[in-house]
Amino acid sequence: MIFETIAKTGHEEVVFCHNKDAGLKAIIAIHNTVLGPALGGLRMWPYKTEQEAVNDVLRLSRGMTYKNAVAGLNLGGGKGVIIGDPSRDKSEALFRAFGRFVNSLNGRYITAEDVGIDVNDMEYVFRETEYVTGVHQVHGGSGDPSPFTAFGTLQGLMAALQFKHGNEDVGKYSYAVQGAGHVGSEFIKLLREQGAKVFVTDINKDLVQRCVDELGCEAVGLDEIYDVDADVYSPCALGGTLNAQTIDRIKAKIICGAANNQLATDAIGDELTRRGVLYAPDYAVNAGGVMNISLEIDGYNRERAMRMMRQIYYNLGRIFEISKTENVPTYLAADRLAEERISIIGRIKLPHMGNGGTRFQGRMRGQ
Ligand code: NAD
Repeated sequence: MIFETIAKTGHEEVVFCHNKDAGLKAIIAIHNTVLGPALGGLRMWPYKTEQEAVNDVLRLSRGMTYKNAVAGLNLGGGKGVIIGDPSRDKSEALFRAFGRFVNSLNGRYITAEDVGIDVNDMEYVFRETEYVTGVHQVHGGSGDPSPFTAFGTLQGLMAALQFKHGNEDVGKYSYAVQGAGHVGSEFIKLLREQGAKVFVTDINKDLVQRCVDELGCEAVGLDEIYDVDADVYSPCALGGTLNAQTIDRIKAKIICGAANNQLATDAIGDELTRRGVLYAPDYAVNAGGVMNISLEIDGYNRERAMRMMRQIYYNLGRIFEISKTENVPTYLAADRLAEERISIIGRIKLPHMGNGGTRFQGRMRGQ
């Protein structure tokens, strides 16, 4: 069953990690290393079944291949999951045991923080392996990626405005921003610096109030955000908010935000295209975080990171062009861009393999 699934998803390697003394049950999935070592976060989650954990790690690692490829990084896609409750099951031994498994892969997989993991956990992983990013800044880590992700989201937005309206005058348009957390609040700051009108909502009322008091935003209700008459809808909270219930309500002609997995289904992406709504694919827009941590691998430099974020503007521009010339929705155009890059770089690196030594079946979304 598991081998059948892996054969379908085209993964190179899937490693099951078990350490009884540490209570470790983890899986590392390496999807594709044609462009470079597989970089992807470690997630800790109380999966109800082992199959659920397998499915998640396979899906997420494949997503990282696409994300890293579109971002222009010399990195492949991988992911790790630990089966456990982050509020109860964390220990030094658990993360050190996981670190030893990462180390045993000799750099084919590089781990990072994801849901349920923080910088302290990464410190333990770091004691056992150098193939880890997202450690504390004192060890050369890059710190909180959110400002970079927000700046990258702004680059994606500018590319979308350019494609849709032929200008990048961010301040001329209005925005409905859903989520004023780490990325959302930084993104709002950038919008307001250019004088844009910003509507904001968040389940955390204090965060909304701060945006009103300190940044001059207009607060709207949690559900009301979908009805706001704004030029751009910017999901910066949860995934799946573009769905059958919301797309009739959203008036914006551009969708550009940092949240992962914004499209509930591919059909929603098709429908947005049919309606003339420009959807900036989430994993291309929010690549700032992964770009930032990728720089830790050869020695982190903040200026270089900021310059790298600018690439998101060009990546989105290419995605929109592919979408137009090949007459496909933007979410598919992003996948094509990733697949083309892996294929061509693969042929350069491994000319004898003809197809770049990689194989794609079906498509992915998000990470
Ligand atoms: P965060 O937890 O700091 O912020 C998310 C905010 O959304 C919180 O303030 C939360 O209260 C709010 N929220 C949750 N449910 C909501 C709802 N139904 N309506 C309105 N608000 C709601 O997380 P973040 O780091 O800012 O990340 C935001 C999104 O961007 C996530 O989807 C994340 O996966 C994605 N992302 C983040 C980064 C990064 O660098 N932090 C990188 C890539 C992608």
